Formats: sequence, structure tokens, C-alpha cells
Amino acid sequence: MRSGPFSASYAEARGKFLEAAGAAGAALSAYEHPERGPDDGPLTTDCAWIGPADARHVLVMVSGTHGVEGYCGSGAQVDWLRRGEAAQLRPGQAALLVHAINPYGFAWRRRVTHENVDLNRNFVDFDQPLPGNPEYAKLAAAVKPADWSEASQAASRRVILDYAKTHGFRAMAQVISGGQYTHPDGVFYGGLGPTWSRRTLEAIMRDLLSRATDIGIIDYHTGLGPEGYAEQIISAHPGTPEHARAQAWHGLAATSHSGGDSVSAAIAGDWLGAAPRRLAHARVTGIALEYGTVDSTRVLDAVRADNWLHAHGDPTSPEARPIKQQIRDAFYIDTDVWRGMVLGQSLIAVRQALAGLSQSGA
Ligand SMILES: [Zn+2]
Repeated sequence: MRSGPFSASYAEARGKFLEAAGAAGAALSAYEHPERGPDDGPLTTDCAWIGPADARHVLVMVSGTHGVEGYCGSGAQVDWLRRGEAAQLRPGQAALLVHAINPYGFAWRRRVTHENVDLNRNFVDFDQPLPGNPEYAKLAAAVKPADWSEASQAASRRVILDYAKTHGFRAMAQVISGGQYTHPDGVFYGGLGPTWSRRTLEAIMRDLLSRATDIGIIDYHTGLGPEGYAEQIISAHPGTPEHARAQAWHGLAATSHSGGDSVSAAIAGDWLGAAPRRLAHARVTGIALEYGTVDSTRVLDAVRADNWLHAHGDPTSPEARPIKQQIRDAFYIDTDVWRGMVLGQSLIAVRQALAGLSQSGA
């Protein structure tokens, strides 16, 4: 019996993706990562193109922007392929599935890249002054205590919750998760230059999307919002034609992280926000699909534990195992109900995007 579309490791996920893409008749290409996985296996971003090579209307589905969140996105991609949903493509349309754009984070169960960078804070212009977040320094020591004993975890959590009590939970989340460019060993760090994953995504855009005139994007995420609910988050600012178009495609439930109505903090340097400039020859309409898992405090604890492990501990040691289980459980709910909700809402979002693409005149 063939196992389901979701996987227990990056290597398994990659194998299922390549098999399903091959069976769907996709043209495959791969981008090799310089590091290895915890099993010493290769790390690769794989691309599957389905449809005419010269298609101008292209739906792009991306998994693993935040590494460990790829367990969800990969499952949605494999399911889409196996289910024969490519039959939904209209004449002149193609689908580009990008599997594990941050394969290191997927394989090692981290949100970040091997540079300890949040890929969705990395798409800033490094020739310009970087976004400021001076409040982060006040919480940096609590975010990453020197040791990870029960006492230090309790003390650091207290500092963070005290900050939330004084300034509000949303303000605390903004300071910690909004992005910072000053603490390379901290969380939600944007880096000081383009990461491998950013350069690879830019190469994919050049290699595979330079002829497209109309591009829809769905970028898969997990870890924010109510369990199993997929919030469709528009990167474009409210009031712009891009935002209006994304709402027309996906419905009024779609939110905007810059509009203050999303579960996400306002962020700079996300790749969806940067995509229209890099694909200036095309009309670009993108959303992040953000699936809720567990409550925000547990997610933040898991991210902090993993951050501590890679800064001070040994991610291959026995002490790493519970932390790696903790972070996977924060970004992937291992139940049939959750997986079913992931797949159903993914199918809806993809069909909405294909319908939107087909309405273009070009
Ligand atoms: Zn994410």
C-alpha cells in the first residue's frame, strides 16, 4: 500500500515528491545545497514544471520557506500531484512546484536556513539601511539564555511574558518575530546578505519564470493561528491593485500582515513581498497559506529551544531529540483531521489561483 502524501523526514518527502512529479509528467530540475542532512544525505531544492514549456500563466507553489514547515507544504504538493489536480490547468497555464526552498531547515527541523536566517526576513535590500528593531535587544538574553535548564527556561519565559503584560502580547510578538538584523544568534534574524535559499529562489525565478506574464503564488506556512485553519495572508499592502487582486481571487477572508488584521506580525524582507520587483515583467498575485498548529507561546518556546540547541548544544546528540520533537510538533499536527484540513484548504487555494490566472487577458 502506498503511504499518504505526508512524510516523517525530508528525505522521505523528497522521494515522494520526485515520484509523484515524475508520474504527473513534470519536467524536473534541482538546485543542490552545500550542506548535508542529519542522515548525511544530500539537500536539494527540487522544481517540477507541469504544463506547456512556453505557458505564460503560471501557478507557483512553494514549500519549506521556513524549513520545518515543509512537512505541511510538501504533503500538500504531493497530494496535489497524486490527485491528478494538474487536470485543472487550463490551456496556456502551467504549474511550478518548488519543493523545499530551505532544504537545510526542512531536514534539520529548523525554521531557519543554515545561516541561522529567517528566509522571510532576508529579502531586504542589503545596500540600504536595514530595518530597525531596537526593542529586540531588551529581550535578546531571554530569547536565548546561556543554558537550557528548566530554571532558565522558566525565568526567560517570565521575562518575555512580563514584556507582553506591559506592552501587550501583539507588541511582544512584533518585537521578537517581526525580524531583527543585530543578533545573528537570535531568532527571526534577517542576515547581513542573501542566503543560499534566497539566491536559489532568485535563480528559479530567472530560470523558470522569465517568460511568464501572469504569476500566481502560494507559499505554504504553519505555526500561526487556530489549529487547522489556513489563513490566506496577502503580502501586498491594502489599497494596492495587487492586494485587491489577491482578495478578488481568494476572497475577503484573506488578510494582510501589513494591514494589522493577520495572525502574522508585520514583517519586512519576506520573499512574496519582494517577488513582484524580481518578476517585473509579469503580473504577480501571491498569498502565504498559514496553517494554525498550537498556541503561540508553545511555538515560540520550540523556536527558542531549537535556537539554543544550534547555538550552544549539539543537534546530533541525544539531548537534541526532545527539542527536535518539540519543534516538529509546533509546526505539524500529527492527526488525520489536521492533515485533512491542510489538504482541503490547499486544494481550494490552488483552484482559486488557477481561476484567477485564467481571467487574465494576455
Ligand atoms: Zn512560516
